[in-house]
Amino acid sequence: MLKENVVSLKNVDFKYSNEVILNNINLEIYDKEFITLLGPSGCGKTTTLRIIAGFETPLEGDVFFEGKKINDVPPHKRSVNTVFQRYALFPHLNVFDNVAFGLKIKKLPKKEIEKKVKEMLAIVDLKGYEKRPVRALSGGQQQRVAIARALVCDPKVVLLDEPLGALDLKLRKDMQIELKQIQQKTRKTFVYVTHDQEEALTMSDRVVVMNNGVIAQIGTPEEVYNEPANAFVADFIGEANIIDGIMLDDCKVSILGKTLNCVDKGFGKNSPVDVVIRPEDIEVVPADQATLVGVVTDTVFKGVHFEMSVMCENCQWLIHSTVAQKVGDKIGMTVIPDNIHIMNKMFLNPNNEIFTEVYYSSEEENTTTFLLEGCEITIPDMYFAEGERIHIVLPPDALYIAGDGIGQLDEVYIESVIWKGAHNEIILESDERKWIMQSDTDEQVATYVPICFDFSKATVERVEVSDEV
Ligand code: ADP
Ligand code: MG
Repeated sequence: MLKENVVSLKNVDFKYSNEVILNNINLEIYDKEFITLLGPSGCGKTTTLRIIAGFETPLEGDVFFEGKKINDVPPHKRSVNTVFQRYALFPHLNVFDNVAFGLKIKKLPKKEIEKKVKEMLAIVDLKGYEKRPVRALSGGQQQRVAIARALVCDPKVVLLDEPLGALDLKLRKDMQIELKQIQQKTRKTFVYVTHDQEEALTMSDRVVVMNNGVIAQIGTPEEVYNEPANAFVADFIGEANIIDGIMLDDCKVSILGKTLNCVDKGFGKNSPVDVVIRPEDIEVVPADQATLVGVVTDTVFKGVHFEMSVMCENCQWLIHSTVAQKVGDKIGMTVIPDNIHIMNKMFLNPNNEIFTEVYYSSEEENTTTFLLEGCEITIPDMYFAEGERIHIVLPPDALYIAGDGIGQLDEVYIESVIWKGAHNEIILESDERKWIMQSDTDEQVATYVPICFDFSKATVERVEVSDEV
């Protein structure tokens, strides 16, 4: 089937004041598809919708509608309608008048308005509700009125921004199925926004996983689940064991000091990678029949399977198994090569290297100070002469969040937090660069924190001028 584009975003950048909100967004939306923008709060989903709707204009890049550039076309001239989380119905009007509102503005004949509203109310399962005041409706019914109101003007594209967010879980599940049916009945393109991965996977033809203003992956629900593009996607979609590994060679990966066979090639020799294994892909076998051996620390029955925590080589694993194991049992874990997913590291400077020049130093106090993004940073117990070039290597565990709120670098942005079995791997962004930090505590993404460096865990070397390339 030939897929026709309705909306395209090409190299779209967007900023609020000086802050980058969207960074080079490229997205093709196909006619009549149900596409979902999925990602954590603050990643830029709503902003992307607002750009498609015309409420915001990209700073760079273009928006196309059926091949025509529409950067400067105002919202009401785009064949797009939005359903918001807070439905924004007119509380003093009844159901009919709420749905008919847009058609009345368009000055359609009365008979035609009545016919269209009736048809639409039937589609959203509100036949006979015309005269009800909207205030007397339940949350789910109000949401259906909002959807009818967006659809009745016959837009090509319907934008839905977390439309089920205000409903309780049971109602939300029912409405998910209903929304999908409405989309199929009306044969419209739906661009849906949610932070709920389960919702995205059940409703969508394609999912756009967003993180921190960029698209991390676009694919069918199966693709983003089975072949996550990086550790962020694997972590965000479903449950996953994400472990640091070394790709020894094609089809050979080392994790936790053990070598496993996989099917991935082309990562080079001895390259650091992220290894993803889904809990349902781990098979429990007798301890003497497996390379990976662990001890069960927790087990919970989940209706269909048991969810178990297993401690293996100081790393906590999550396993789904239909066979119960007891806490304290020693078990073997095997994974078929096909189910070991190898991914490039999202961040390629694992040692937070700094090349700099000594700003001043004191031989007496045995300290060395350098400038980092305009701040003076002092290395205790180390002396290098003023003006000397130095190379600092800071492993991830040499960074920490200042408990007292006073950091050596302030206002460092938390870009991602990924649980690596034994600790969190946190990627941070300061004014000029990124950092990788290891942490035992949970941190909130998209917040700003003060960070400090523990130089006792660092190595600092003098750079000979002849060493420099
Ligand atoms: P999402 O819908 O994924 O939660 P948004 O697109 O609403 O994310 O917001 C992305 C980022 O833009 C957030 O960091 C948010 O704080 C910021 N932002 C959103 N609206 C504004 C605004 N009107 N002014 C300044 N910053 C904003
Ligand atoms: Mg939003």
